[in-house]
Formats: sequence, structure tokens, C-alpha cells
Amino acid sequence: MTVSDHDQSSAARLRLVVATANPDKAREIVAVLTESGLSVELVARPDDVPEVVEDGETLLDNARLKARALCAATGIAAIADDTGLEVDALGGAPGVFSARYAGEHATYEDHCNHLLAELLSRTDSPRTARFATAVVVSFPDGTELTARGEVEGLITTSPKGLGGFGYDSIFVPEGESRTFAEMTPEEKHAISHRGRALRSVAPLVWSSIQSADLSTSLKEQN
Ligand code: IMP
Repeated sequence: MTVSDHDQSSAARLRLVVATANPDKAREIVAVLTESGLSVELVARPDDVPEVVEDGETLLDNARLKARALCAATGIAAIADDTGLEVDALGGAPGVFSARYAGEHATYEDHCNHLLAELLSRTDSPRTARFATAVVVSFPDGTELTARGEVEGLITTSPKGLGGFGYDSIFVPEGESRTFAEMTPEEKHAISHRGRALRSVAPLVWSSIQSADLSTSLKEQN
């Protein structure tokens, strides 16, 4: 069920701070939540809130660290996600280390080239992989909502496409012939790991903001 299936007469506008400095991701998060029927007022992440060290062992750990820290610092609901690309021929790497795979300050292009180079010596292995995203929404009263989304696919032999970000140019989702970077944002959101995780968490957010406990702090009359 999408949020759109609920009674929109009591529609609430959720003030939400997004725990990412990456504008590509912030855009995707708001686009998918809005498509799901949630009215989201995106609050800019305050500059003085320090970045958390993403030293969790899992994607969920990292998403939770980010959402909790931002909610605590701002006093409003916070959403965070953490994404990893798991490549079977590399034993699931880069996984939770996807952001640092080619080094702390590497570019998207560096990460993709590093991954393609790692696969060069594994020509006998399948190029199967999946993107996985964990999403956490933390509310000021301690309520926490979580969801996970995955998409299976194949790693290309060279980057293709100019859209998207991160590893999009080397990942062809199952059932498609184009990489994520060759798709429109809407096409990507419809099938992506992050889109799936956000569409799973959206009805949970909706239920929470309907509850009496949260309504006073989270609802704004339109
Ligand atoms: P994080 O979730 O921001 O920590 O992302 C981890 C790494 O995965 C970073 O290198 C991102 O650029 C990359 N990444 C995150 N989401 C996506 C995506 O939707 N497509 C491709 N790469 C992504």
C-alpha cells in the first residue's frame, strides 16, 4: 500500500532533515517520498552539525548512526540512508566500504575504475552484483523506523551513461539493458535500491505521523 491510498484529508507535512551532504541523494530521497504521497518539507542540514563517523559494521548501523545524530542535533525528524554495492566475484565488496573503496577522497570515476580493475583478473566469475540500501527515520521522541531495499544486476566492463552518481555508470539492473546512469532519475527511482527502501519506509512514516504521540511535534497545518 502506498501512502496515497490513505485518507489524504488529514495530510500532514513532515519536516524532515536529510542526513546527507550529497545533493544527488537528497534529491532522490525527497522525490521518492513525495511520489509515495508524503508531503515533505526538506530542512537543510545545519552546517554546524558535525558529520558522524560511519564506522558501523552494517549499512543499517551506519544509517542509524547518521539519523540519530542529526535528529539529536536538530530536534526534528531525520532520515538517513546508507548504500553499498555488493559484487559477488569480490566476495561482497565493496559493500559497507563503498564510499571509501578507492580511497577517502576518490571521485565517483576513481571508485568505478578501481572496481572494474579488480574484476579484470576474475574473468571466470559472474559479474553479478546488487545495490542495497538501509533507510532509518529517527523521530525526536525516540521512535525509529527502518527499511531495506535491494536491486540485483550486473557490473559492466566499462562505464556507460552520464546521469546518476556513484557506481551508477557500471551497474545494469536486472531486466534492463541500460546502466542506471543511462536512465532518467524517474526510471532509476522506480526500480532502485533506494527507491525500494524509501517506498517501504513511507507508509511506516505515514502511520507514525498519524499517531497522537507524534502529531503535535511533527504536523503543520497547511
Ligand atoms: P553512502 O550511502 O552515501 O555511504 O554511499 C556509499 C557509496 O555508494 C558512495 O560511493 C556513493 O557514491 C555510492 N552510492 C550510493 N548510492 C548510490 C546509487 O544510488 N547509485 C550508485 N552509487 C551509489
